Amino acid sequence: MRHNPDLILMDAVMPEMDGFRATTELKSLLEFTDTPILMVTALEDEYSVEQAFMAGACDYITKPVNWVVLKQRVKRLISASHADRKIRHLAYHDTLTGLPNRLLFIDRMDQAISRAIREENRFALIFIDIDHFKMINDSMGHAAGDILLTTVTSRLTSALRRTDTISRLGGDEFTVIVENIDAPEDAGLVANSLLEMLVRPILIDEREVHISGSIGIALYPDDGTSFGTLLKNADAAMYRAKDLGRNMFQFYAAEMSEAVMHRLDMEGLLRNALERQEFILHYQPKFDLRSGRCCGMEALVRWEHPQRGLISPDEFIPLAEETGLIVQLGEWVLRTACVQLAKWQQTGYAINNISINVSARQIRDENFPDLVEKIITETGVNPVDVEIELTESALVENYDKARDLLIRFNDMGLKIALDDFGTGYASMSYLKAFPIDTVKVDRSFVSGLPGNREDMAIVKAISSLTETLDLSLVAEGVENEYQLEFLKNIYCPQAQGYFWSRPLTAWQFEQDILKNSEGGLG
Ligand code: C2E
Ligand code: CA
Ligand code: CA
Repeated sequence: MRHNPDLILMDAVMPEMDGFRATTELKSLLEFTDTPILMVTALEDEYSVEQAFMAGACDYITKPVNWVVLKQRVKRLISASHADRKIRHLAYHDTLTGLPNRLLFIDRMDQAISRAIREENRFALIFIDIDHFKMINDSMGHAAGDILLTTVTSRLTSALRRTDTISRLGGDEFTVIVENIDAPEDAGLVANSLLEMLVRPILIDEREVHISGSIGIALYPDDGTSFGTLLKNADAAMYRAKDLGRNMFQFYAAEMSEAVMHRLDMEGLLRNALERQEFILHYQPKFDLRSGRCCGMEALVRWEHPQRGLISPDEFIPLAEETGLIVQLGEWVLRTACVQLAKWQQTGYAINNISINVSARQIRDENFPDLVEKIITETGVNPVDVEIELTESALVENYDKARDLLIRFNDMGLKIALDDFGTGYASMSYLKAFPIDTVKVDRSFVSGLPGNREDMAIVKAISSLTETLDLSLVAEGVENEYQLEFLKNIYCPQAQGYFWSRPLTAWQFEQDILKNSEGGLG
């Protein structure tokens, strides 16, 4: 319940649950322990009055209600309860910063633990210690120390969500409970933004003071399930952060720190990778199984990391999606692929199909359809030569939006391929509901060919389904002649895979594929 009432008027006789039980239940909830409950009852016998008090009501009034008496009682109860609350607030909050103190923090931790048990999820306890606070306090005086602490409080608070609980344990130690986190990285991100808040200079007596913080993180239930263990472990992690040089965070489980740091590192590098032109496109040829000729290609992005070399999209596309960077990266991919196609066509190579992968996040971007149209126009390619590859799951997640988008693409003349078919949750009905031209059988089914009965059955079924619906079909990940033989036998029209070629740079593609295909392509 969001509201915290000043007073509850409770009728003794109600349907479903009587007022006595309702009172007992409300009183067992922490937020109502202090809320006065005034029982309104028609039952003026001694027993029910006793029952009302036992349940936790603080007064009662009988029906028919005398309004003057009611008004007086309400007034008295509310003012008494306000005084109570004030005392309670003082007992549970830190006077300098107004934050919850250690007592309330313990209570909030208990609540967080109960909720995490009930909802079967994770929360993080973040322990923050200000670096060199004692030095500032000693050299500049306590008043300066107080200003520092209140400034830090408001900065830390501004970096948190409303649902996060920040407390001051004492001195220069703060804790934050971040509930309902999906992955440890989420806690790392919060810790990072807290650290950023701390390194901003603070003006005290017209002097700029620079501080930093050291942060330890313990996760429930990974690093402990009780208040004591979690606090001890977050504290230990905080000391490790200090030992390692301050102004950083550490997870209690050391290997977690490394994994999360690696991810945050990658994230930082990925943001700069576009400007630094570290992405390149590779092209994997597709083959017509009847003629054996190259009939198109798929553009696949790679990241040329200055230190780590070529990084595969499986490693950075998910990160690019989470951070939203995929929108700009996707634009770059689309433009680069179209420019390349136009170049090859101008050179005289008769290629009339390039497939470009598009992620779910791009579909949700409002500007995406206009962007595609713009790139097609600018690069001068024929839209029928361009195929947009979308995964089943991207369609399932964005059903209505995806349908509108695909209809628009279809009107523009673009081709649409359903990628990784068979792995997602899309039903066959998707093939009819969306204007799809091509289905791509996922590599995981092709790898079981021939031999795995299930994979054989699935690929056969997809093949006849697409034939019936008059859709084109591409088998992905063909690595050997046995797989090829099987696919030919079931009249699969097209395939791609290492059997013919890995994805190649534009230059290699031209040398190995385009120049070797006598008599044109397709
Ligand atoms: P995908 O669209 O299913 O791409 C096919 C993947 O299978 C490619 O991996 C390709 O190199 C690989 N592959 C092709 N033939 C074979 C084979 O015979 N054997 C094996 N083992 N693998 C083969 P890659 O290039 O690492 O791409 C992985 C995924 O990354 C792609 O899967 C696609 O989902 C995503 N991706 C790649 N480029 C882009 C892009 O520009 N935008 C978006 N949104 N996603 C992309
Ligand atoms: Ca693909
Ligand atoms: Ca695929």
